Amino acid sequence: MSISLELRGICRTYVKDNESFLAVDNVNLTVSPGEFLTFLGPSGCGKTTTLRMIAGFEIPSSGQIIVDGSDITQVPANKRDMGFVFQNYALFPHMTIFENVAYGLRIRGLSGDALASKVREGLAMVGLGNAEQRYPNQLSGGQQQRIAIARALVIEPQVLLLDEPLSNLDAKLRIKMRQDIKNLQKKLGITTVYVTHDQEEALEISDHIAVFSEGVVQQIGSPEEIYEDPQNRFVANFVGKSNFVDGTASADGFRTLGGTDIPYNVPASVRGACVLSFRPESAVLSEGPNAIQGEIVDSFYRGTGYQYIVQLDAGCRVAVEHAGKLHTGDTVSLVLNQAIFFDAKTGVRL
Ligand code: ADP
Repeated sequence: MSISLELRGICRTYVKDNESFLAVDNVNLTVSPGEFLTFLGPSGCGKTTTLRMIAGFEIPSSGQIIVDGSDITQVPANKRDMGFVFQNYALFPHMTIFENVAYGLRIRGLSGDALASKVREGLAMVGLGNAEQRYPNQLSGGQQQRIAIARALVIEPQVLLLDEPLSNLDAKLRIKMRQDIKNLQKKLGITTVYVTHDQEEALEISDHIAVFSEGVVQQIGSPEEIYEDPQNRFVANFVGKSNFVDGTASADGFRTLGGTDIPYNVPASVRGACVLSFRPESAVLSEGPNAIQGEIVDSFYRGTGYQYIVQLDAGCRVAVEHAGKLHTGDTVSLVLNQAIFFDAKTGVRL
């Protein structure tokens, strides 16, 4: 049976350089039963602290943690029904894989055949049924992380918490492991909170993403909402690549600070000084009556095509994706297909 998890007004104060600061600032969110929620944000934004408060390793300075309607804020970690997977695996080096996975079950009083069958089930779940008698240092990083996941899951926790579990693995293995984690999570239907600074990972693995910056949740939404409908400049910048152009919006379009007119059907609610933003894939390089002239000043090969840096005027460079080969110094025309606008001062979506 999956359960729900709710954070209400969670804050955590720390002291740094003799001054106290809010590492986690009024976080409110709900994780539905069986949902996979990811905390995404740059290093130091409060993701791990929030996860550790859910686990009971840290106590909130204020706020409540609610599991299936019950307040567990004061319940000690070992009395919470949660599995935790650490970034560095945290396996016991002197114990066999069997004993590592058995650890939490023994604490809960299991022994003999009942214990062995649970451990074997757990190892089979992560595809490492043949590793029982080995030691952690005889396994690869990816295998060790699978063991850590098996260890967290065999106790059949109500909530699974994972703190950057893949960041010590190489790129290819990371992609395979994130698929495996997602499939296992969906199969078990276990309510899950996952921490990462990797936006690509977050987009691929999550049902919902909470984007953090400086202890504050900036936006919570599905991967599509976060990518396609960012509510502020921070989210647009952190998730995927975005261009930001300072200028002025009017009924005729957008004029950059350098005086380049960008034809665009600007919504009536957006007028005056603001920031125009678009993804590199939301503009095309071509000829046409609606086009803006620019010059290629740099390019990056992406395998599927190129990303070109186009200089529109002295103060304005934008990145645009384009399949064909162009050269530095080429003059091109740019057509903007889709843009959004942010307040120039606050960065809030207009
Ligand atoms: P993230 O997981 O997003 O990288 P953390 O939650 O680990 O961020 O940290 C958030 C902020 O709190 C950082 O500025 C970090 O230095 C600070 N911090 C974390 N733990 C402690 C602690 N035990 N004492 C003091 N400051 C801490």
